[in-house]
Amino acid sequence: MDDIVLAHGELDCSRTKCASECRILMMKNTMASDAAAMLLAHRIRIDPTHEQRDYFARAAGTARRVWNWALAESQRQVAGGGKPNAMALRRQFNAIKYTDPAWLDADGNPWLRNIHRDAHAQPFVNLAKAWSRYFAQRRAGEKAHPPRFKKKGRCTDSFYLANDKFRLEDKIAILPKIGRVALREALRWPGRILGASVSREADQWFLSVQVAVPGNVARRCRSGNGIVGVDLGVSSAATFSGGEKIAAPRPLRGALRCLRIRSRRLSRKLESAKAAAGITGRIPKGTRLPVSKSQAKGALALARLQARIARVRRDFTHKLTTRLCRENQAVVIEDLSVKGMLANARLSRAIADVGFYEFRRQLLYKAPRYGTDIVLADRWYPSSKLCSHCSVRNATLALSERAWTCVACGAHHDRDVNAAINLQRLATGALAARTALPEASPAATPGTAAGTGLAGGGEVTPVRDEHGQQDGSGQEENGAHFCAHSC
Ligand SMILES: [Zn+2]
Repeated sequence: MDDIVLAHGELDCSRTKCASECRILMMKNTMASDAAAMLLAHRIRIDPTHEQRDYFARAAGTARRVWNWALAESQRQVAGGGKPNAMALRRQFNAIKYTDPAWLDADGNPWLRNIHRDAHAQPFVNLAKAWSRYFAQRRAGEKAHPPRFKKKGRCTDSFYLANDKFRLEDKIAILPKIGRVALREALRWPGRILGASVSREADQWFLSVQVAVPGNVARRCRSGNGIVGVDLGVSSAATFSGGEKIAAPRPLRGALRCLRIRSRRLSRKLESAKAAAGITGRIPKGTRLPVSKSQAKGALALARLQARIARVRRDFTHKLTTRLCRENQAVVIEDLSVKGMLANARLSRAIADVGFYEFRRQLLYKAPRYGTDIVLADRWYPSSKLCSHCSVRNATLALSERAWTCVACGAHHDRDVNAAINLQRLATGALAARTALPEASPAATPGTAAGTGLAGGGEVTPVRDEHGQQDGSGQEENGAHFCAHSC
């Protein structure tokens, strides 16, 4: 099982230009302090019985239906010029949920009574978050899309449980309405449980428990103090500035043939269902075709394969990001425009396969646990085109050139290794510049590279951390600790 972190995207990407003219988008002195807890989530596979599976599916369906109802209502409010009000929406829903014919079963009984209330209360909270994110992005001038309707089979099935509504006893979870459910493993971390959600992936169910883990427990020992530049690429998933190349498992490439066969099988079944219903061309909106047994079976086979691909990919990125954080005091990566690259059809499959965005997300949340600095280089920093020997720019370097020779100094470069070295130098320069800066630098904005200002003079000091016992010579000494998820 893997651990994921909540509330990603909390790191504010404050654009800063460091003293040594290198282009750094963001740099965080990330060390979880003892007092501050970190929010971590443990996602545990569960083994529900048939009745429990049935309940989970109904609860997830309820959450989806309530979301859609609330979204439709709030869209009406927005169209009328107002802003959606979560509390008012909830009151409106509570007034009708046991009486409105749309929420009654065939015998006229309110079926919501059979589903725990957290499952139909949480969508209002989530929707309010989605709207405020949308309005914030619009205010910031970013590209934004309003919240969307959820479609059965097309969205993640999940529902929420508040922390006072369930209990964990070793490898058993006691959930409301259904009782004891078997877990595949016990909860990994001590700490205050904040809540949980039950979700489905293909035909497997998972319980994801959010825990506020004390800083000294969450923190991990680092085994090295290197500074590494990482160039993410297509030919090899990651290239380190030391010259090491890490090949991606390419699960999608391996499973692609199988994926194509299984999706073709499924679409043929859909075509025949359409033909049986006498529909040609697009299916009209609101039409529900009957789903045959073999169609359901085909859909499950496809979903299982996709889940497997996701697992292999997740496993790879988790191992890579943990290794980078564990072995280094600073990791430099390029802030790639993943969306822009995905738009390039020729590159898109290879890039999506490596999972750049997930790589970056994992790195950013793991860094505070190891006290590792993550440096994001500006996406326009020409890491590939600079010669790492003499810093002369090779403007004519094409994407297809995997190796090149510098015209100024004659150095022969492997494209990816050269880029990784340039990224590493960016960090070395920035760290040196940061140590040289006076404590109260006028350029300092809170939380940015210059603002944290390393203690000690002129050189990068190693950090040793034995479960909270610090050697007193490193980054932890200065007050500006950064923990993305302190609470
Ligand atoms: Zn050169």
